[in-house]
Amino acid sequence: MPAEKLYAIKSETIKIMRLLVVSNRLPVTGVERNGKLQFQKSVGGLVSGLSAYLDSLKGSPLANSEYVWVGWPGITVSDREKERLKADFVTRLQAYPVFLSERDMGAFYLGFCNKTIWPLFHYFPDRATFDEDYWKSYVRVNETFRNAVLEIIQPEDVVWVHDYHLMLLPKLLREAMPDILTGFFLHIPFPSFELFRLLARKWSREILEGLLGANLIGFHTHEYTQYFLRCVLRILGHEHDMGRFVINQRFVKAETFPMGIDFQRFHHTALSPEIQKETAQLKKSLGDFNVILSIDRLDYTKGVVQRLRGYEAFLRQNPHWHGRVILALVVVPSRIGVEHYQQMKRQIDELVGKINGTFGNLKWTPILYQYKFVPIEPLIALYRACDVALVTPLRDGMNLIAKEYVASRTDQTGVLILSEMAGAAKELREAILINPTDIEEIAEALKEALEMEREEQIRRNQAMQARLRRCDVVRWADDFIRDLLSLREERRGWEAKASSPSLQEPLLHSARTAERRLLFLDYDGTLAEFEGDPQKAKPSAQLLSILQSLASDLRNDVVLISGRDKATLHRWFGTLSIALVAEHGAWIKEQKDMQWRMLAPSANDWKPKILPLLEFYADRLPGSWVEQKDCSLVWHYRKADPEQGSAWAKELVDELVNFTANIDVHVLQGSKVVEVRQAGVNKGTAGMHFLTQKRPDFVLAIGDDSTDEDLFRILPQTAYSIRVGMSQSHAKFTLPDHREVLRLLDALAQAGHNL
Ligand code: UDP
Repeated sequence: MPAEKLYAIKSETIKIMRLLVVSNRLPVTGVERNGKLQFQKSVGGLVSGLSAYLDSLKGSPLANSEYVWVGWPGITVSDREKERLKADFVTRLQAYPVFLSERDMGAFYLGFCNKTIWPLFHYFPDRATFDEDYWKSYVRVNETFRNAVLEIIQPEDVVWVHDYHLMLLPKLLREAMPDILTGFFLHIPFPSFELFRLLARKWSREILEGLLGANLIGFHTHEYTQYFLRCVLRILGHEHDMGRFVINQRFVKAETFPMGIDFQRFHHTALSPEIQKETAQLKKSLGDFNVILSIDRLDYTKGVVQRLRGYEAFLRQNPHWHGRVILALVVVPSRIGVEHYQQMKRQIDELVGKINGTFGNLKWTPILYQYKFVPIEPLIALYRACDVALVTPLRDGMNLIAKEYVASRTDQTGVLILSEMAGAAKELREAILINPTDIEEIAEALKEALEMEREEQIRRNQAMQARLRRCDVVRWADDFIRDLLSLREERRGWEAKASSPSLQEPLLHSARTAERRLLFLDYDGTLAEFEGDPQKAKPSAQLLSILQSLASDLRNDVVLISGRDKATLHRWFGTLSIALVAEHGAWIKEQKDMQWRMLAPSANDWKPKILPLLEFYADRLPGSWVEQKDCSLVWHYRKADPEQGSAWAKELVDELVNFTANIDVHVLQGSKVVEVRQAGVNKGTAGMHFLTQKRPDFVLAIGDDSTDEDLFRILPQTAYSIRVGMSQSHAKFTLPDHREVLRLLDALAQAGHNL
């Protein structure tokens, strides 16, 4: 039976939520049985965490939820074999395999993932390779993953994409299924802008846009989240509000979720009789020495060489520890084909030989060295048998070894020495924190750890264990999924408010029955899209024709109410029979053939005091400029460096608020502008003028920013007020963009003429 079919059947039983977990590798291991390759589930941190998370939902509204894992099964197979394996994976392993060619695995996995992203994101730019063929392969493989997900996805599924191999996938999925709920989690660091920008401009944009295709993007630490937000601002120009964006009518959020471990599993396994026995045997074979543990994958980010140098310095400085301490050094083979890794292996081998040769003797070998993988249970025994864990990565997204060591110490003794460059250092503050490049500091930390009082060890581990127990991997997954689901709820709430059919029908009905209709229309962002150069945002032919049509109905009074200057409004709309309001209510022109007049007498004596300050900011920030209007001064920064613009806008507002405390003006921060305006001049005052004069029985007001809120606030209860875009507002309704506004106005114009 084809895999898709199997899924269709299986899905009928799904009640609440199906989670599609997508990662480069599937958590399955191939085993040979009767000469045939078979697969079984392998339980890593994430798998056991997710199963525990789904178990924890029992009895909640999400009970009966399940997950399906999508990823590469670790082998390349023939086309015939693929179909057999797919069915087998689906039925037995809760997994859906994505098959990749040898060629793609080379250029994608060993290439772009491990020779470009991995070194760059871990602050090793000199080891990063920038190769267009690698990139193309990265794009291709992300597309292959998209196709695989689309084969099995259903509209209500929740997709959770993991890690740096698949950073383009959220956007690819979004393009195919605009409403799908997608989360992304990055398990490695997100680098600072200065490193990220080393990627080709096209790649960096596509990676950020790829990630922003998700609804929620998660990072291990606050710093990684901030670096990401900064890159989005600098490279794509999107400003965020507390980590939130509105992009193409979607809420997108970047948030910090430090990943925990399956604490109970480590703690309970550590207490099991088998592990107790294994620990005792291990201790016996290690002898009476104090044992320091170092265990890592072979990777230049792990700082193994620095660690060995630190141990060497410790031995040199502390002869009284000779013959009493050993370093159990386990290096786990990793990415064997990559050249840098082979070099590093040679370097480690040489250093171990040198240290053992320099300090050791027939009775004492200072370093016991093993180059192989340790399965989970012997690993827990090892954690328990060692007095100190020395974990010194030069850069690490999180580092689970550190957390697992602490969790396995059920008697609460043992000392963790941890690099402050690991994400885990943010939570494990009671460890001895070191800078991994500082060899002397590692040596001192080793002495401190080996000589630490038992009570002090317990005190520190108690605090860390309590935190690890609370913030375990289930909590991590739960926090992430809850946040993701709440974004969907938020979206649905907004859509309910925004659904134009429910707005349009009653609105047109009231309009049809009304005798005098008053329409307030903002311009930029409401009737037309924003442009970098405001003068380029000219009205379209379609808009002019709709306005013309509305104006030709004698029961309509159309008021174009904008922040723009008089001349521009006159140039663009002067031939239409509509009223114009310029400069947010400072000037009005009530009919086509009337002159402009001021609504309130102008008091401009404040301007000479404020202008120099705005000009100072314009000089400081290239691309920004000051506009002088009759009743206001505006500092524009839409074309300036986005990050500096946003930072300086906040600074300027702050300065202006202080500076204008005794001056009768308002300071407003709008869309890429800071405006200082004469008090009492706003769209609300202007709107009031028309309301009292026209006495309408139907009022419609549409606007897109905070200046329109002044108008919404003064409207009568029965008025239809509409805010364009996704923001908090006094308006009763919302529409997604100017296109929808034009559609509504067109329908209104038609309704008028069809009476
Ligand atoms: N691990 C293992 N056997 C080994 C070495 C490591 O099972 O011989 C596991 C370890 O339990 C941990 C993971 O591999 O869960 C390593 O995670 P970490 O975040 O420390 O480093 P990474 O390899 O992901 O960079």
